[in-house]
This record gives sequence, structure tokens and C-alpha cells, in this order.
Amino acid sequence: MEEVVLRLEELLFPSIADVSVVSVDVSNETIRVQARSTTIGSACSGCGNWSIQVHSSYLRFPADVPSAGRRVVLCLRVRRFACPVASCGRRTFIEQVPGLPRRYGRWTERLRSTLTAVGLALAGRAGARMAGVLGVSVSRSTVLRLVEALPEPDLQAPRVVGVDEYATRKGRHYGTVLVDVETRRPVDLLPDRETSSLVAWLAKRPEIEVVCRDRAPFFAEGATVGAPQAVQVADRWQCAMRRLVVSPI
Ligand SMILES: [Zn+2]
Repeated sequence: MEEVVLRLEELLFPSIADVSVVSVDVSNETIRVQARSTTIGSACSGCGNWSIQVHSSYLRFPADVPSAGRRVVLCLRVRRFACPVASCGRRTFIEQVPGLPRRYGRWTERLRSTLTAVGLALAGRAGARMAGVLGVSVSRSTVLRLVEALPEPDLQAPRVVGVDEYATRKGRHYGTVLVDVETRRPVDLLPDRETSSLVAWLAKRPEIEVVCRDRAPFFAEGATVGAPQAVQVADRWQCAMRRLVVSPI
């Protein structure tokens, strides 16, 4: 019997340690997996101290990734522990098992990431429809919220930055556009063409090695003050050449 349970855990929770499958109940449409954490205690979410004093427990029913055409629902016993530290502001806390749902989540982490990937590929309406095909009933706005909750991609700061102006409102208003010369992608737009804005932007990015700009005086001054470490190139063609020279390849 023990061997069977072990295989079930490896099958159902290959990346989650300390989880025990208590039972699996299969009906026509749904697989119900009863599971619980096997750790004796948990670290307090307020102060980090370890506690083995169980205060209470309750059941949660997060949905998991469907399996073989059936919905999968976990029946998870979650414990609340008492914090042993008197000075800690949190008298009790709920155990958190990595990979299982977040505190108030209604999905396991792997279902959440599956739905997020669907949302990223298809956006709200089509994403919700595709999730339905996969057996997960979810609204269009929920799919969008999952995508919005993603952390901002960690864009690498440019090494060679091009500064130019752009016009809006039919040329009546000018701003500054900053381009990563190496990837040829715009990095940022500044709402004006002021030296101070460019100085502030460059000062936050000390890793910039080359600033390519046109000959406008406010760009020259901005580059000199904001990025004193950088080489300035006041010509686009030269800038392309400079890129070849400074390139580590
Ligand atoms: Zn505590």
C-alpha cells in the first residue's frame, strides 16, 4: 500500500516535497485528490520562527490542471499554527506549501501558470474559450488579470543608447525617444525635450557606455551631465561603427 501511495505522489506532485496523497476519488468528470502537508511544523509568515503548535485546520478545494479529460480538484487540509514568539504581531499563521495554491488562490500554482500562458498567447476572450476547452471554467477578465499580475520583464539596460526627438500632435509637441542601438528597440519615451529629463534618465543607468545623439545642444548637455562615463557620438553612422568597436564579440 505504501508503495502505491508513493507512486501517486510522484505522479501528481513531482515537484512538491512534503505532500502526502491521502486518497484519490475518480468519477466520470472529476478526479478528487485528498492531500496534506507532511511537515511537522511551519515557519511563521510574520517573524520566520518555526512552530509546531497547530492552532486549527480547514479544508480548501483548489482546482488543478485537468488530467485525461477530467477536472482535477484537490481537497487540501491546511493548518493554522500558533506563533511561538510573544512579540510577533501575528498570533497565528497559515502554512504555505510551495507549489500549492497561494493564500487565497483557487488554483494550484501549475494551473495558474497554465492559465497565464494561455492568457499571454490568446488574451482575454479567446484565452477564456481555450481554457474552457482544456476543462477549466474561467472568465475573460480573470484571464486578463492573470496576465496583468505578471512581473514586468527584466529588460537589460542598454549599453549603447541612441537619443532622438519625436513629434506628437502634428509636430506641435516634441519629446525624447531613447533607443537601444544594439537591439534597435525603443527603450523609453520622455514627454519633453528638456536637458533635465535626459540627465535624470541617463543618471539612473550608469551602465551606458555610449550615447549616440544628434547635434542639438540640449542632447549634448544632457548626455555630458547625465552620463559622464559614456562616450558621445554625434552622428548616426559613426554610432553604428562605434557599436562594432565597443561590441565584445
Ligand atoms: Zn511570528
